[in-house]
Amino acid sequence: MLSRLLTGVLVVAGLAVPATPATAAAAVDTTRAPGAPAYTISLTSDTTGASWTGHESVTFSNPSATPLTEVYLRLWDNYHGSCPATPVTVSNVTGGTAGALEVACTALKITPPAPIASGATATIGFDVSIVVPAGVDRFGRDGSYSFIGNALPVLAVRDSLGWHLDPYTNNGESFYAVASDYDVTLNHPAAVLVPATGNSSETAGTSGRTITHAVGNQVREFAWAAGPFKKVSATTSTGVLVNVYSVSSVSTASASSMLSTATAALVAHAGRFGAYPYGEADVVLDNGYWFGGMEYPGFVLDVVSSSALAHELAHQWFYGIVGDDEYSTPWLDEGFTSYATDLYQGATGTGCTITWASAAEKLTNSMAYWDAHSSRYSTVVYNYGKCTLHDLRRLIGTTAMTTLMKSYAASHWYGVSTVADFKAAAQAAAGSTSLTSFWTTHRVVG
Ligand SMILES: [Zn+2]
Repeated sequence: MLSRLLTGVLVVAGLAVPATPATAAAAVDTTRAPGAPAYTISLTSDTTGASWTGHESVTFSNPSATPLTEVYLRLWDNYHGSCPATPVTVSNVTGGTAGALEVACTALKITPPAPIASGATATIGFDVSIVVPAGVDRFGRDGSYSFIGNALPVLAVRDSLGWHLDPYTNNGESFYAVASDYDVTLNHPAAVLVPATGNSSETAGTSGRTITHAVGNQVREFAWAAGPFKKVSATTSTGVLVNVYSVSSVSTASASSMLSTATAALVAHAGRFGAYPYGEADVVLDNGYWFGGMEYPGFVLDVVSSSALAHELAHQWFYGIVGDDEYSTPWLDEGFTSYATDLYQGATGTGCTITWASAAEKLTNSMAYWDAHSSRYSTVVYNYGKCTLHDLRRLIGTTAMTTLMKSYAASHWYGVSTVADFKAAAQAAAGSTSLTSFWTTHRVVG
């Protein structure tokens, strides 16, 4: 996400470096589960695309050594309701028994009929209903346009810290998911366009309706929008289809400019961090968002701002391809994305100065801390966050830093990274130069 305060000036794009396909295996965490979720979803909308009903199922494995005696669904968008009145409703659960809603209606425990053993697979299914509320938000409506992020129930993650059942944060992201496959069928009026995560194809439905089939593989989550958007498209020099969808108040010139930014940024980021693997990217423009932009796999919401769009598209690598627990370590996605945006814009971070507000303030604090110190969130996590990476570049040298960023992405491709993982990779790149005091002064803890 990019806060409204951070949307900045338009800067000419930097030059791209040829992409190198990243083929390294994902990092292995032997305690993390469930594994390899495959979601199959079929939803039908009302006449406007503001409410959806249908069915969702997910098949997953247990790659950990410990049986899964339960799993949890996260119903993130119930934050946007008044629990127990919820905009996202799950019913008719199969493959397990649903408990009561927890964590302000954003978590639902499903207990399978028997523990899911190490190495076994299981499937749960349920009916789902989604009602998008008013408000120009990542889950909200702007007149006839609906933005539908984080609405699909997703499996929570259990790792060495146990189940992650953190609360929703509206200051940033709480989302933590393993790379998953999504096969989504959306039945909607033909007059409503449906930008979405994944690669989409459309077929005619009955009675003036269209069936959009979207397939997204190795993605953290699935988001879409619905409305009578204007659409312009282009294909990057590396073969990625980019679609820019605009609400009616966005000018044709703005949409065209943002299409150019999107293609340039995707190529530039791919050159630095590895080829964009998803084939298609959708950008949904509305200047009414209260934030600068919001990232989803292959799908971003954005105001008309070149820097905001470059930032959200950099999230395709940091949060998306290289996953992290966005609640516990927002620096790993927001700081890295801000750094990537600087690189794209040719900004070198000259004059970075970091002034800590208190002994407790650390670059690697969680959203629990930033929710309690929200006025410092963007300053520290985004700005000090990117400054730290600029300072690291100055310390170890540009060549080593360039190699580090690309190899770090490759070694966590479709996996989950941690602060400790990045520190280890950086130390390896630094060679005989110890980074111990660097981490201390920059308050990189983990
Ligand atoms: Zn962001």
